[in-house]
Amino acid sequence: MVVTKGIELRLYPTKAQKVFFNKCIGSERVAYNAMLNTKMVLYKDYGVKNFSPNWSSLKEFYPWMEEVDSRCLNYAKIEVETAYKNWFRSLKKGGKVGHPKFKKKTHSGTYHSTSMPNTPDRLFRDGKIFIPKAGLVKFVQYKELDLTRINKIRYLTIKRTNTNKYFVSVCCDVELPEYEHTGNCIGLDLGIKDLIVTSDGTKFENKRFLKSCEKRIKNLQRIHSRKKKGSKNREKARLRLATAYEKLGNRRKDYLHKLTTKIVLENDVICIEDLNVCGMVQNHTLAKSIADCSFLMLRSMLAYKCEWYGRKLVVIDRWSPSSKKCSCCGYTMPSMGLAVREWLCPSCHTVHDRDVNAAKNILVEGLKILDIGREPPEYKPVENSTMDDRAETYLKSSGSVKQEAYMQMGKVIPTSLACG
Ligand SMILES: [Zn+2]
Repeated sequence: MVVTKGIELRLYPTKAQKVFFNKCIGSERVAYNAMLNTKMVLYKDYGVKNFSPNWSSLKEFYPWMEEVDSRCLNYAKIEVETAYKNWFRSLKKGGKVGHPKFKKKTHSGTYHSTSMPNTPDRLFRDGKIFIPKAGLVKFVQYKELDLTRINKIRYLTIKRTNTNKYFVSVCCDVELPEYEHTGNCIGLDLGIKDLIVTSDGTKFENKRFLKSCEKRIKNLQRIHSRKKKGSKNREKARLRLATAYEKLGNRRKDYLHKLTTKIVLENDVICIEDLNVCGMVQNHTLAKSIADCSFLMLRSMLAYKCEWYGRKLVVIDRWSPSSKKCSCCGYTMPSMGLAVREWLCPSCHTVHDRDVNAAKNILVEGLKILDIGREPPEYKPVENSTMDDRAETYLKSSGSVKQEAYMQMGKVIPTSLACG
């Protein structure tokens, strides 16, 4: 299967190359702001909607733009036009997209180049990468780079982080190997105590990365705020603080990558619950813990990895009562506090671990969606529901949800795995 993905490499540019990158990053930002301004004035004062800004005339106002890779100016134009298109479309539908904003000058930044050689053997030469107008730049690859799998190179994004590190992201079409189907289905329950609990009872711990470095970050923030603005010491303090945040992010990303890759490789069908993270964060007592879990990152990793490896990700409705429903008989408990970790089903007398039970319900629910091939009917939080007859018929013959899942797989395979 061919997918479009970015390959990120750490760059080690020379001093001159760094200056060049910084110029390009600045130019893309300035060009974007200038073109956005023109479009804004024309739209607000004259009602012109389809004006296409011209970046080559910008060079008369900003002569230093002659030195940079002009492709990044062209990219800025595309960005402005896309931003406006999205805004107009959202206006029609009454959506949430706001008016395009000006880009601020920050310590981090990116620029894009489309004029690079489009075959891998010409882009990567002598152990270096060729970046237009900057020449060959040293880089380090963290993962093994298999050039034979790269079909077509689309564009390069050069990024400067706020810790003054440089990266290049090579956006290209990559031929992915076929992964063998395992025949497993799994339901995942996301939580704060354990980050992921699977329907087969495995628990992946929540490492609470923020908690471990919260003190240090607070301390660095205080030191930074006390330094005189514009001084060298302030810049040093900023760098130290930015490095601490970067480390936190890297640890989180690393853990989530390992975890999601493991889950996606071991299972064919993965069912998760649709979490309302933005709503959850509004609960002030839990906000920090929830934000530290990075549920959105986890979810997006699962989504794109499922696509890469030919797996199926099923997202079930957030209102289905997964925690309160008995996964054996379908009885729904009228109410259950967050503190309850284990409970006894009054109907069939099974002792449930709260999270494992929820994961099992998510799996059953997800497999139902796959089987009927359409969205589930809208669920409302039911307080006093009786036995779920569908669950009952499913489970009549088999005791465990796992078995039930395999039974379902027989029907699932042709539709769901055909895409792989
Ligand atoms: Zn029960």
